[in-house]
Amino acid sequence: MITGKTRLLGVIGAPIGHSLSPVIQNAALHAAGLDYVYAALPVRPDALASAVHGLRDAGIAGFNVTIPFKTEILPLMDVLSEDARRIGAVNTVVVREDGKLAGYNTDAAGFLAGFTEHGITPAGKRAVLIGAGGAARAALWGLLRSSVSEVCIGVRTPGKGAALTADFEADGFVRSCAFDTSAWRDALGAADIIVQTTPLGMSPRTEEMPPVDPATLAPSAVVYDLIYTPAETAFLRAAAARGHRTINGETMLAAQGAEAFFLWTGVRPDMMLMKRVLREELARRG
Ligand code: NAP
Repeated sequence: MITGKTRLLGVIGAPIGHSLSPVIQNAALHAAGLDYVYAALPVRPDALASAVHGLRDAGIAGFNVTIPFKTEILPLMDVLSEDARRIGAVNTVVVREDGKLAGYNTDAAGFLAGFTEHGITPAGKRAVLIGAGGAARAALWGLLRSSVSEVCIGVRTPGKGAALTADFEADGFVRSCAFDTSAWRDALGAADIIVQTTPLGMSPRTEEMPPVDPATLAPSAVVYDLIYTPAETAFLRAAAARGHRTINGETMLAAQGAEAFFLWTGVRPDMMLMKRVLREELARRG
């Protein structure tokens, strides 16, 4: 029951009505017996600063941040976690007791949870990333934090690959290659871990494939697609048919939410429940 003591959590974005977070977070809060409620909070794109300060001043405990505010919110934070600073985006804000705003990014932790769930250790492995957008940035930082031996980023826009590489070259052996080069094909063939970070294959265009022929991958390579709708993309299906171990984006989505939950409440939520609720909600939406 919502009472006068119930604490408020939420997610800000524009638009925000499609967000899965309220369903997942409220289920986990209820299961943990915590007196919080989590709401979707639409924020006008030209009013981020006043909305953030207003939410803080109205006593919100914390909130998630999604498109289009993840980068724009950085200068509004009083403190930033290392992950938020390195990824260059905030997806979780904690309002501290003194009113200070602490910005976190739980995407890299969520991404790494996908490996953990499958008993895979990225340390010492050769990885390739397909794509160089926002999700690739979090995945790249997660892989480097996990001490992979090298990362090759496959891109269609060389300038974006070069920019991402430049931001992380001090953290490990990182390079980028255009999709149509022999360097990319060589990196793919030698990789232990393939991470697909483009929207290619996402609903409703489920027939699309990234520009990678699964037949060229090393047989032992693990194939991770960050997409969670559908649960199995055409790329993952093709990889599984060739005997590869595959990971989809569901655990990353649930685990980044679980990390945020912990930052706000100090309690570890039931991750399995969060994943189950996520699947049920996706099935309900069709
Ligand atoms: P983004 O910032 O727009 O980046 C998309 C990347 O894909 C860019 O590098 C883009 O290349 C590349 N790309 C797009 N269309 C392409 C095409 N036709 N051929 C080759 N490359 C193409 O998007 P994002 O935020 O990173 O999200 C990407 C995907 O990750 C989405 O499907 C999203 O659902 C998923 N995701 C999942 C989670 C999770 O929790 N599981 C979290 C975040 C994102 P250019 O740079 O050349 O445009």
